[in-house]
Amino acid sequence: MNERDSEQVARMFVQNGYTLTTSESEADVILMNSCSIREQAEQKALGKMGLVSSQLQQHRPHVVYGMMGCMAQSKKEELFKEIPRLDLVIGTQKYHRVFEYVDSIVRQRQEHRMDNLQSAFSGSHVIDVAEEVDSQNYIKDHLNPGERSTAFVSIMQGCQMKCAYCIVPYTRGEERCRPIADVVDEVKMLVDAGVKEVTLLGQIVNRYGREFPLVDGKGGFVQLLEAVHEIDGLKRIRFVSPHPIGFRQDLVQAFTYLPKLCSHIHFPMQSGSDRILKLMRRPYKNEAYMELCVQMRQARPDLAITTDIIVGFPGETEEDYLETRKAVEEIQFDNAFIFRYSPRRGTPAAAMDNQIPEEVKEARNQDLLEVVNKIAVRKNAELVGTVQEVLLEGPSKTNAARLAGRTSQNKPVMVEAGCEHIGEIRPIRIDESTGFTLYGSLC
Ligand code: SAH
Ligand code: SF4
Repeated sequence: MNERDSEQVARMFVQNGYTLTTSESEADVILMNSCSIREQAEQKALGKMGLVSSQLQQHRPHVVYGMMGCMAQSKKEELFKEIPRLDLVIGTQKYHRVFEYVDSIVRQRQEHRMDNLQSAFSGSHVIDVAEEVDSQNYIKDHLNPGERSTAFVSIMQGCQMKCAYCIVPYTRGEERCRPIADVVDEVKMLVDAGVKEVTLLGQIVNRYGREFPLVDGKGGFVQLLEAVHEIDGLKRIRFVSPHPIGFRQDLVQAFTYLPKLCSHIHFPMQSGSDRILKLMRRPYKNEAYMELCVQMRQARPDLAITTDIIVGFPGETEEDYLETRKAVEEIQFDNAFIFRYSPRRGTPAAAMDNQIPEEVKEARNQDLLEVVNKIAVRKNAELVGTVQEVLLEGPSKTNAARLAGRTSQNKPVMVEAGCEHIGEIRPIRIDESTGFTLYGSLC
């Protein structure tokens, strides 16, 4: 989601005559889009911005520094103290305003530079973290869509579930959806530019348009999927993340009649223990979660399921952890992101008793990772010798002679093929698996 928001900001700069650079030492403006989901993410962003701004201070005093996103939203003015050279703090509903703010500082500094007033380069302290009605509708433009075969499309912003551990409802505001027609127009524009696959983004995508009237018994999200599915030239649709709450049969059934919907779902489970789910304020039981997995696999037999799991939530006993482990073994996830619980300011879980020691979290993390990896490696090995439809996305990062692509199940495949095949969906014979990556050749 941050990548997508950053792309929107970058696009506004490019549209207005700025040039993107990959080198910090060349930049006149350095913007960082921050994530607050775990403490580590915040520390990384703070450390990086602090370091870069102090390194460049002497030789490039005119550089404008901005912090955007969730940490900007929640830390507000405090960030100016933590990063002395910071000029802007821009919240999650104001991405579309970043350009005007930055451009006016750049212009002021250009004038002062001509006057040689070094003092004018000290921090400007622009802050905008207000809410803005319909801000979700501004995340709609893309950078060079003609150069890629996949794209993210943000269909909604915010979340009001208030899971006990999660900072998102406090940083991203209330759930707000974009109109179906706007999303369809955006996807059409992408497809016209050459994009073959879109991933629809939201905190709980299956709550998209829940206030829309049902059409043939189908809710807003399935209506959106059907509308996007109709777009000629679009080959694949993905979405992330769905939530067991409000995951209705219309979405399960969508896997039977929408062939462009990929055979993969990233379906966060968080815990296999009902006691912990309740403490987490995740309003479902493990049995209901598992039942949905079974139903989706019935609807789409080759469906890959991946998940998010938090270990070491306050009060998680060894028995609770073992229930999570058991659920992972039963469901046989294709992969999982395992997170050590990270206390977040202002969330109910941060104030709970029975915080779990870091070494226990670490041990559970490692143990679960072993279980997950073993299943993932076995599932990948089973694909050797089969033929998979792979979207060839671009040159491999590690070996430019190969193309990197993904199967419908979202498994990465490195393919011996030339650049002329970029953007094609081709049957690929899987020759080898090195555990997490598959290697294949054109059939
Ligand atoms: N809206 C999505 C999740 C978005 S956050 C959903 O509810 O499914 C992505 C993941 O980060 C979550 O699924 C959760 O596993 C993890 N996460 C969120 N807050 C966390 C915290 N305080 N500590 C550790 N992991 C956390
Ligand atoms: Fe966070 Fe829960 Fe909302 Fe997901 S559903 S973003 S975990 S509060």
